[in-house]
Amino acid sequence: MIYIERVTTMGGVPKQRHTKSRRNKRRMHIFARAPILVRCPKCGKPVLPHTVCSNCGYYKGREVIDVLAKLTKKERKKREKEMKAKGKEEAETKKEKPLTWEELSKK
Ligand SMILES: [Zn+2]
Repeated sequence: MIYIERVTTMGGVPKQRHTKSRRNKRRMHIFARAPILVRCPKCGKPVLPHTVCSNCGYYKGREVIDVLAKLTKKERKKREKEMKAKGKEEAETKKEKPLTWEELSKK
């Protein structure tokens, strides 16, 4: 009697086709990059472009989300202080810049 043994080929042969989605998901780590961030013009925190700032709730120069609404009283006071301090810093830098330019032009 002759038994025909099952020939095992070298290497794995795929039994079923994998979808494009599955293939792309497997390769995702190759293309994954750190998200591009932009500084929020209001508070200066890094934010995703074309999105509302989660820190101050501003987008395109106007308030879209009331960030302080969900916070407790203590947290709210802290936030307001921080925002005021940053606003002052911005005002100071704005005042300083034109002066330096004038000085430079005089010199
Ligand atoms: Zn902001």
